[in-house]
Formats: sequence, C-alpha cells, structure tokens
Amino acid sequence: MNPRWLAVVAGTRPEIIKLGHVARALGPVGRVVHTGQHESPELATDVLASMGITSARTLTGIVGRSRHTQIGRMVEQLGDLFTSDEPAAVIVQGDTNSAVSAAQAANTAGVPVLHVEAGLRSFDRAMPEEINRCVISVLTDVHCAPTTTAVRHLLNEGVSAAKIELTGNTIVETTLAMVPAAAEAAEIAAQAGAEPHRYVLATIHRTENADHPARLEAILDQLTKLGLPVLLPLHPRTRQSIIRFGLTPALDRLRAMPPVGYRTFLGLASLAGLIVSDSGGLQEECTVLKRPLIVVRNSTERPESIAAGFAWLVQPGEAISELGRQLLADSALRPRLSAIPCPFGDGTASDRIAAIARGFL
Ligand code: UDP
Repeated sequence: MNPRWLAVVAGTRPEIIKLGHVARALGPVGRVVHTGQHESPELATDVLASMGITSARTLTGIVGRSRHTQIGRMVEQLGDLFTSDEPAAVIVQGDTNSAVSAAQAANTAGVPVLHVEAGLRSFDRAMPEEINRCVISVLTDVHCAPTTTAVRHLLNEGVSAAKIELTGNTIVETTLAMVPAAAEAAEIAAQAGAEPHRYVLATIHRTENADHPARLEAILDQLTKLGLPVLLPLHPRTRQSIIRFGLTPALDRLRAMPPVGYRTFLGLASLAGLIVSDSGGLQEECTVLKRPLIVVRNSTERPESIAAGFAWLVQPGEAISELGRQLLADSALRPRLSAIPCPFGDGTASDRIAAIARGFL
C-alpha cells in the first residue's frame, strides 16, 4: 500500500498532450497510467515521448475494441490497479472512454477523482464524448474547469461550487511550449511542400464524420475546392473509413499523410492560411496560434473559440469551401486574430491542477 502517489490516466493522443505538463509538474508522485486506447507510435508512444513521459504503466487488450469492450476491460484492469496500489487520487482528462473508465474504476475502489477539462457540454447526446463527460462529472470530486462557461454548466447541473476550480486549459501552456519558432515552422511547411500561409491544414476523425460515407465524401470533396494545397494528416480511423467507403480517389487531389508528431503538427498549424477540422483540441490550439479554424461538426462543446472569433461551426457541404475561400481572401484576418486574447486561460493551468492534486496526498 502506497498512498503517496497520484494516478494520471491517459489513453489517447489528446489526453497525453493535455496531461503531459500536469504529470511533469507533479514530479515523482505523479505516475502515468496509459490505458492503451491509442497504441500506435503516431498516436501514443511517440506522443508520450514528446511530452517527456518515459515510463507509463499500460493496460492490455484495449485498442481497436468496441466502446463497451474498451470500457469494460479498462474498468476491470484500472479497478484492480487502484484497489491494490491505492493512489491518493486519480486524475482524468476530457471525455474519452479511458477517462470515463478511470473515473468509474476509481469510484469503485474508493479513490477520489480529479477531472481536468471539466464542465464542457455540447448538449448533443448523440456524441459518445458528451455521454462520457456527463458520467465523469457525476463521479468527480474536484472539477477543474477551463472556462467560466464550463463552471456555469457544472453549477447548472447541481455541482457544488466548493468542488469546482477555475483553472484554464492545460493546452495553452502545452501549445506555447511545443510550437516551433516561425523559421523552423517554415522549414516544416517546406518539407511538406507548402509555403507559409498558402496552404490549408485539415484533420477529420470524429464518429459523426469518419463513420458516415456521405459526410466524409462531402468533406473530402469540399477540401479540394479551397483553392490552396490541403495537408491532411490522416487519423488511422479515417484512413480505414476512406478505404472502406471507396473514397480513395478523393485523396488524389489532397496531400494526405500519416499523423505527424505534435511539434510538427503545431508548426504546420501555426503557418496555415486556414485550418479545417472536427478536432476538439484544435479548437483550443487555434486560439493560442491565432489561426482561423472551420469546425466541421453538428455541435461543439467549445463555444469560446467561436465567440472569440477564431472558429466557425459548419456542416459538411458547400459551406466549407464558401466560408473557407472567404476567410483565405480576407487580408485583415491575420492581424485581427493576432490581437484577440486566448479564451482558455493564461498558461498556468497545469501548475494549478498539480497543486490541487497534491492536496490529496
Ligand atoms: N495532432 C497531432 N498530429 C496530427 C494531428 C493532430 O499531434 O497529425 C494533435 C493536435 O494538435 C491536437 C490533438 O492531436 O492537440 C488532437 O487530437 P484529436 O484530434 O485526435 O483529438 P480531439 O482533440 O478531437 O479530442
């Protein structure tokens, strides 16, 4: 039995990215448990290394399974770990199957839960992530909310104000620490065959897009109509869907590539004329990098990026190329975005969260 440790649970690329600085701030008392929800070098092991996480305990038989199998197996394995090794608290991040499983496992083992990025709501229960968020909130003891909007959602659901901490989002300091300087970013763009500000960067991987042939086809088609080269680092799930749905010919007019390392990706994002994505994290990163982002989704749990003027929510279809061409033609956009403050905090969230977590020791 060793009560003097804190479990930092991460399973997917965005969780590793957003918890890396928290784990570092905790030092030896923070031990990373990698669930293996993402397992490939591009989505997991390389990302762990780039965040300076050299030792992480990993679960087995998780990657590529159905949602219920993943959750069942993770609750079982994490429950065993938390029961035998008794962490003082379990830190989970965001809205993944890993996060909801760890919260459930901690609760059954009688260990408190600290939720990083608490209180986000899309109010779209068709999104598995929304269900995960709501379940995690019920199981959480300390909610680290990134924005006042997130705090309000938690209060509206009856969470006691005493259990909520307004911390900002850890992505701010992570992006600032990892983004290459302009000259290096230009090199990275050149290696991808692109000129600064004269290309589009796109990523697509959410269920609502990647698992629906008509939506995915419409998105790929629209990307080809933006009038600039489109760099498309393909999530493995999307690549599989493109093959399965017979959409491979659409890639001839796009610059598809495997997922790139986080630093390389931020370099490409920092000099993109436009970003088009259904990612959650990119909705935050674009506000630090001051780049315009078209969010291709039904709904978003991050309205702050839109309200601030960095992002626009559109459905797959004509709107992508129409709005995209308009944004690319707007020469005043870049200086305008540069002057808008980031709505996700001041870059101190990781240290604040680590300090709150230490309170459990
Ligand atoms: N990202 C990356 N390489 C890529 C594409 C994305 O490092 O080729 C990063 C991106 O900067 C962001 C995170 O991965 O921080 C987003 O992950 P994803 O879109 O898979 O998840 P979401 O943010 O939607 O939860």
